[in-house]
Amino acid sequence: MHDTDTLAHTRADLGFSWRHRFADLGPAFHTRLAPVPVHEPYWVARSQTMARELGLEDEWWRAQDALDTFAGNRVPPGSQPLASVYSGHQFGVWAGQLGDGRAVLPGEVEAADGRWLELQLKGSGLTPYSRMGDGRAVLRSSIREFLVSEALHALGVPSTRALCITGSDQPVRREQVETAAVVTRVAPSFVRFGHFEHFSHRGQHEQLKQLADFVIDNFYPECRAAPHAYAALLDAVTRRTAALIAQWQAVGFMHGVMNTDNLSILGLTIDYGPYQFMDGFDPDHICNHSDHLGRYAYRRQPPVAHWNLLALGQALLPLIGEPDLAMAALEPFNDVFTAELNRRMAAKLGLREASEGSNAWVDDLLRLMARERTDFSICWRRLAQHAAGAPAERVRELFLDQAAIDALLARYRTLIEPSAPLFDAGLALRSSPSIVLRNHLAEQAIARAKLKDFQMIQDLLAVLERPFDEHPAHADWAGFPPDWASHIQISCSS
Ligand code: AMP
Ligand code: MG
Repeated sequence: MHDTDTLAHTRADLGFSWRHRFADLGPAFHTRLAPVPVHEPYWVARSQTMARELGLEDEWWRAQDALDTFAGNRVPPGSQPLASVYSGHQFGVWAGQLGDGRAVLPGEVEAADGRWLELQLKGSGLTPYSRMGDGRAVLRSSIREFLVSEALHALGVPSTRALCITGSDQPVRREQVETAAVVTRVAPSFVRFGHFEHFSHRGQHEQLKQLADFVIDNFYPECRAAPHAYAALLDAVTRRTAALIAQWQAVGFMHGVMNTDNLSILGLTIDYGPYQFMDGFDPDHICNHSDHLGRYAYRRQPPVAHWNLLALGQALLPLIGEPDLAMAALEPFNDVFTAELNRRMAAKLGLREASEGSNAWVDDLLRLMARERTDFSICWRRLAQHAAGAPAERVRELFLDQAAIDALLARYRTLIEPSAPLFDAGLALRSSPSIVLRNHLAEQAIARAKLKDFQMIQDLLAVLERPFDEHPAHADWAGFPPDWASHIQISCSS
């Protein structure tokens, strides 16, 4: 049985120390409110990795208080729950006020390593910003968000994190009747581009400055030393966002809803809806069934991120003053994106540096892959294995045009050999995962969870936490998607 002292400790307060820097910004930024309780909550999933980082005890989840807290049925002592207000551009159109319509932020807690991380309960009921929504999140989308948050983090892609999911059988109406869930998300801050747009659009320049100062002081302190701190902030966010999108492209990740309210000021991947990892490579692939024009298609992610940064620049203009300064701060986007993408693609070849030769080779391979709809993750992983000494055959057999792939593989060898000092097969294996969270894997875990079998979520999580290792016990998860996978349609409904 469990140590009763540990239980007593977690029962009291989960062991968290709380801090409330966002709450302290004042009432213009949020509404204080408690989560709305759910009926008879139960555990759906937990990330022990995240729990350990937060300094929670090993058996933290056994305490009833933990379940009640993360289901939103209990307000832990020391927390100050709130819903924040923001606005944003959705699908390129100004949407006006949005805000945390189904999330509550109880505050920041101190992680085991001394960092302060905000917790946020998503799906926690109505807030003043719920608009037409019901304040809830369904089990299906909560499982998708939970798994991909931890999966992207393990891939080295900056993301909000996830601690746990709680469920309740209380019905939630979407296209069909589903059940409710709450995901506890974790991030240094959940501030979005849309928070800045909100105050700027309303002419609340004092609050705009307060928010910018908050973000600079807590997350971009180096900007203070710059001659124009707010332009420096825009420049820093531009660079981080460009680097983030390069990482998405390099692992074939599509976000699906890159509205300005879904872009993090910290350059984290945030707000997972109809996201997808690429199966057969198609640069025009649209993962969001509701995105009829393909605004957020794979190849559109970089220009759309730039467009969003332009909206952020516009919002910061009252603080920056000079339009030319703002434009200069946005300027690094293309160079940073291209350099980061080239570097990451070269790493997939096992090369520590990109060169004209590696860039051209990657372009040619991607063109061939696009022509043949070659599976993105499998092709890159097999190439990495070839870099590490496996025969070329496993790569060749992925292609119909054997002459084309043979020519590319021959060129690959001429690329590697003279660059021997820059070559590291381990880098290739650490750059192209053996497993990604494909839609059909999430679908399987969701189907079982709907029958109250939550084991596959934990099993998937365990594998996704080590994406660059081989997982022979789950070889099928690393294989080609089944035929039915291409019929999965993920809309914005969540
Ligand atoms: P999303 O597309 O999920 O990023 O959400 C866009 C906006 O709609 C945000 O302000 C959300 O808080 C809000 N929202 C989405 N779903 C719901 C819901 N079921 N209830 C209330 N607000 C929601
Ligand atoms: Mg959102």
